[in-house]
Amino acid sequence: MNAGKPPGGGPPQPPRRGRDTDACTFCGRLSPAVKHLIRGPADIFICNECVSDCNQILQAEASRDKAPAPAFRRVLPPREIKERLDQYVVGQEQAKRTLAVGVHNHYKRLQAGLQSVGRDEVEIEKSNVLLVGPTGSGKTLLAKTLARILDVPFAIGDATTLTEAGYVGEDVENLLLKLLQAADMDVQRAQQGIIYIDEIDKIAKTQNNVSITRDVSGEGVQQALLKMLEGTIANVPPQGGRKHPEQQYIQVDTTHILFICGGTFTGLDQVIARRIGRQQIGFKTETGDDAVSEKELGKLLARVETEDLVEFGMIPEFVGRLPVLAPLQPMDETALVSVLTEPKNALVRQYQRMFEMEGAELEFTPPALREIARLALKKGTGARALRSICESVMQDILYDLPERAEPSRYRITPQVVRREKPVQVMPKGKLEKPKDEEAEPQRESA
Ligand code: ADP
Repeated sequence: MNAGKPPGGGPPQPPRRGRDTDACTFCGRLSPAVKHLIRGPADIFICNECVSDCNQILQAEASRDKAPAPAFRRVLPPREIKERLDQYVVGQEQAKRTLAVGVHNHYKRLQAGLQSVGRDEVEIEKSNVLLVGPTGSGKTLLAKTLARILDVPFAIGDATTLTEAGYVGEDVENLLLKLLQAADMDVQRAQQGIIYIDEIDKIAKTQNNVSITRDVSGEGVQQALLKMLEGTIANVPPQGGRKHPEQQYIQVDTTHILFICGGTFTGLDQVIARRIGRQQIGFKTETGDDAVSEKELGKLLARVETEDLVEFGMIPEFVGRLPVLAPLQPMDETALVSVLTEPKNALVRQYQRMFEMEGAELEFTPPALREIARLALKKGTGARALRSICESVMQDILYDLPERAEPSRYRITPQVVRREKPVQVMPKGKLEKPKDEEAEPQRESA
């Protein structure tokens, strides 16, 4: 770009703002519509947004021209992937094992592809993943944790915001832009990354899934996603938003990008039940109150097959491109207590660390943990509710904490969780047994 450089050399002229009638030679926008309009020789102008586009394109090209990254030093074996997932994700054994094998194969395939360039070898097919399970059961967490374990760029998208080209909404290429951004616009790195697409069940073609915010059928979006899932060279607009013909694009090859799709597929249990010829057992209520049906739901989801997803409204070609199918179980009370305490960055551990930083100690009694889990279950949003429940219990305590002069130990009991009593505070290091009244109530909390 030689903007500001007079023809025939000489010192570059300082860029000046154009008159209101001047327009960017590249995008056509008038001066008042942009932040800066830089003038070049012979009345050529470029606006700040086009400069930024050019920058992104050059950066992406530069990374593409780099020698290909030696991909993966070592493809982690499935057992190791599963063990690392265990540190962050509670339960979901079946999903973790399936995912570990699928992801191992994916990156093996990537490695084999790099080693066999130019050779005529068996091509291992791409193994994108579909996670099926209730809200708050750890689908997003699994995908995010995988990316962290594998140290690859990661982006999350939501299928409900996507539309087929030409309609109001986001183009599917915007998912790739998010991944590029997560890879600092390094195309090579992005091409080995992971994209998680949430709410994939909402683009099923059944009538009852039609969204009022979207004027196209989910089927069109499934079609739009097909090529990307399979592997294509996609044209990504560097500024996002809608594509337009004059725009310059960054080309991204999606062949080695791992797509993980996730959805709750509410009602899928009944489709499965019908197929396997059992009585229809499903969510009677959306609140998760019905423990028996929760268990049944888990058992049924564990038997999901591709034909059930087609019956649900996913087009066969779409399901075909997600060959790794991993069902997740609804979270029960025990699982929720584990989520509170076991993962490396479990909520309880985070609060305890905060107290430690103030020179204090924090204890949640086991009945208090179960009480929190019970309250969360009632909300019917899986482990998602845990955080807000803990936050509201802890808010007042955290408010006063830094002002306490003497080092103290705080004990959270079920009564504290239910707001029936204030938190118990005792001198630090003192290990009093909880009194009788703190024992777990027999009834479901009022
Ligand atoms: P979804 O299945 O709806 O994608 P998320 O993965 O977003 O659920 O879970 C929401 C939050 O709940 C996570 O950030 C995590 O803290 C917690 N969570 C959910 N499931 C699990 C799990 N199996 N193990 C540990 N934490 C979990």
